[in-house]
Amino acid sequence: MDRLQGKVALVTGGALGIGRSVCELMAREGAAVAVADLDQEHGNEVVQEIRERGGKAEFWKLDVSDEAQVKLVLHQIELKFGPVTVLVNNAGIGGANKPTHELTLEEWEKVQAVNVKGVFLCTKYAIPQMRRAGGGSVIHMSSIYGIVGAPDVPPYHASKGAVTMMAKTDALIYAPDRIRVNSVHPGFIWTPMVENHLKTMPDPDAARAAISSLHPLGHMGQPEDIGWACVYLASDESKFVTGAQIVVDGGYTCR
Ligand code: NAP
Repeated sequence: MDRLQGKVALVTGGALGIGRSVCELMAREGAAVAVADLDQEHGNEVVQEIRERGGKAEFWKLDVSDEAQVKLVLHQIELKFGPVTVLVNNAGIGGANKPTHELTLEEWEKVQAVNVKGVFLCTKYAIPQMRRAGGGSVIHMSSIYGIVGAPDVPPYHASKGAVTMMAKTDALIYAPDRIRVNSVHPGFIWTPMVENHLKTMPDPDAARAAISSLHPLGHMGQPEDIGWACVYLASDESKFVTGAQIVVDGGYTCR
């Protein structure tokens, strides 16, 4: 119940899916949670649920790809809760599903703006607060596709490879500040992102079964499977873990 007592966690993309579960579990473990998302309605719902259970949370509307907004929101979170000591760079988009030669530059850049630039910006503005606090934990939400390839969504896979390496670089740079930086690599997790992706397919039920079978455990994961991994990385239980790739994929990348 108190694995994250005294910590201040910023979770981007916290209104839905994986981020929502991260918010709920971190609040349950005692963190004050800043839920940041484009989606105001669901973000406020998450905050209300956390407060009803006695937890601490506040919603901030945030586009992680906008530097001015990131800077302002980080400042406001510090004023409200104190310095951010846990940052979960979870906000992400799937983007266009076309082969590389058919992609437009705009489609490519749209994905990098959220999935890579957003991670850079939130980390950039959270690090000074973590330094002031004497340490912290940064978690980049990568993917199995930050480790292995697949013949689809090229901008997405590139973005997840990028954040995997950004975690290792920053792990080295900020280790002397007692700031740990790790990446989490989910397999397919049943969230609105995956649900919407399947809806674009001719037979969504068959596609769901086919994707499930790619995981040796035989099914997709649930948001809390990733949420608990983030709680571990945010907590002092993982105090010797930095620059690591935490894979939570039902065995997908074993092959
Ligand atoms: P999701 O269901 O689509 O939820 C993502 C949330 O992020 C949404 O609330 C979305 O708001 C928000 N968001 C999008 N762009 C944003 C921006 N620029 N600034 C702030 N918030 C933004 O996604 P998910 O499946 O939970 O995925 C969360 C993370 O896990 C992503 O980084 C994803 O790549 C990664 N991941 C997911 C899976 C999976 O199978 N689900 C697997 C591997 C990795 P709107 O709805 O308003 O756009």
